[in-house]
Amino acid sequence: TTDASSVSSPTARSEALFARARAVTPGGVNSPVRAFRSVGGTPRFIAHADGAYLTDADGTTYLDYIGSWGPMILGHNHPGVREAITQALQGGTSFGAPGEREVQLAEQVTRLTGTERVRFVNSGTEATMSALRLARGATGRKFIVKFRGNYHGHADGLLVEAGSGLLTNADSLGNAAPSSAGVPEDYARLTLVSEYNDPAALDALMAARGHEIAAVIFEPVVGNAGVLMPTPEFLAALHRVKASGALLIADEVMTGFRLSLRGATGLLGLEPDLICWGKIIGGGLPVGAYGGRADVMDFVSPQGPVYQAGTLSGNPLAMAAGLATLQALEADPGLYARLDAYTAALAGGLREAAREAGVAISINHIGSMLTAFFQDAPDGSLRTYTDAARSDTAAFARWFQGLLARGVYWAPSQFESIFVSGMHSDAELGLTLDAAQAAFAEVGG
Ligand code: PLP
Repeated sequence: TTDASSVSSPTARSEALFARARAVTPGGVNSPVRAFRSVGGTPRFIAHADGAYLTDADGTTYLDYIGSWGPMILGHNHPGVREAITQALQGGTSFGAPGEREVQLAEQVTRLTGTERVRFVNSGTEATMSALRLARGATGRKFIVKFRGNYHGHADGLLVEAGSGLLTNADSLGNAAPSSAGVPEDYARLTLVSEYNDPAALDALMAARGHEIAAVIFEPVVGNAGVLMPTPEFLAALHRVKASGALLIADEVMTGFRLSLRGATGLLGLEPDLICWGKIIGGGLPVGAYGGRADVMDFVSPQGPVYQAGTLSGNPLAMAAGLATLQALEADPGLYARLDAYTAALAGGLREAAREAGVAISINHIGSMLTAFFQDAPDGSLRTYTDAARSDTAAFARWFQGLLARGVYWAPSQFESIFVSGMHSDAELGLTLDAAQAAFAEVGG
């Protein structure tokens, strides 16, 4: 028999798929945030995507602000990217031997980012994990430093104070607890934690332990605690860590090719020793990469003694998608200014709508990244994970549901950035602000 109530529900097919998924996959999803745990409700199972829009299994179309969590800066199903993948597909899907596309993408990435060597991997997690092994191999030191609430993927040593949900405190020497079961204290012990945007704390940590630190890894603009911008004083302190012989690693998995063609490194004038990439560099296929100066990168095998490998690394379809994406970005010099303008207009419209509804929000935005934190603070004033964590997550969840009900798919967590694409234009802005106004009224009322 058929359950009439579930058939008439606008999310019946997503609900049915979610039930099937939960039976065969932990929590029904292959990456936790997709399960909507922090906002509630049924995760939409997506059938297809085009331009700025996602269509779910029930045939409902949503304006997408997730962009696959960053990669889809050109919008979904971009004709140039689709064509490049289709063409590559004719020639076979994986060789396990080098091919020309890997050389082309490496040439493109090194030229755009001012690096000398790049190694391709399959995810952002692999990129940061490999960059840290390289830093340890190159310096002969054990310890690394990361910042509270920064996320660098799920490698053991990086799941320490890794953001959303866990608010434990590092002691004054940077010792902190793992933020996942299954990460031994022995690994976590090698990861020292400092507060983002606290130059004095970083200077003190480096003064005490700099001689044993292999690398300091950081998000140049934080996306994973919601958007947090670095202060110039903090960036200066980051550069000072190099004096101790530690390598400075910019994790540009989210910001690379998003904030500018040279990423946050170019936009903020950073000079890291190593850079990690992911997301946009693969144009929606699984790619990560790490790169830097030849003298550091040549420690990587087979040139040097630091082992790192991958069956599918440099995959021809993935390289084709990445190349087509970077070529399209380079061919449209006005794109970043348009993304900025859209995001600034979105911020202004949200601010206005929230004020009218009497809802307190504080907006951080840069380039095409934005977070509306549900708390009463001046725009742009939130600087640390502790600041972000003061937000009213219940109010955010109500607002998220209000948007979703009106066809706008915002990031399903308070502590995430949204991502604007080149396919978001005036019509999308109007749709978003109408939905936001109504959703704020529900939060306020
Ligand atoms: N580093 C940063 C800054 C990220 O935002 C992410 C993912 O969101 C990662 C690393 C991990 O990348 P991946 O999910 O591709 O493993």
